[in-house]
Amino acid sequence: MKLMYCAHCQDIVRLFPEKRSCKCGKSWGHYLEDNATTVQTWPGLSIGIANPDFAAAHQTFAAEPNAFTPVLTMRAWINPASEPDVKFVQGEEIERDPSGTESISST
Ligand SMILES: [Zn+2]
Repeated sequence: MKLMYCAHCQDIVRLFPEKRSCKCGKSWGHYLEDNATTVQTWPGLSIGIANPDFAAAHQTFAAEPNAFTPVLTMRAWINPASEPDVKFVQGEEIERDPSGTESISST
């Protein structure tokens, strides 16, 4: 499954065929009809989670909610901009302060 990370508010949103937005509303994205390709705003990140890993972790948790096991871990990654099934459209620019650095806070 693909998630969208907003570079403005740092929210992470799971994408669906319906257009969804992050908490601040400056980023949005959705799946196309092929159910594999996503479109989302730039700047931002496309995050992938390995579906088989998620399914195995979910089943493991359901079977024993109080136990930790390595099966609960999942592979996740940032899709490169060259990924063919991730399309970026221009969103809102990142606001910059006078020093020219990105105004992303860690709060
Ligand atoms: Zn946002």
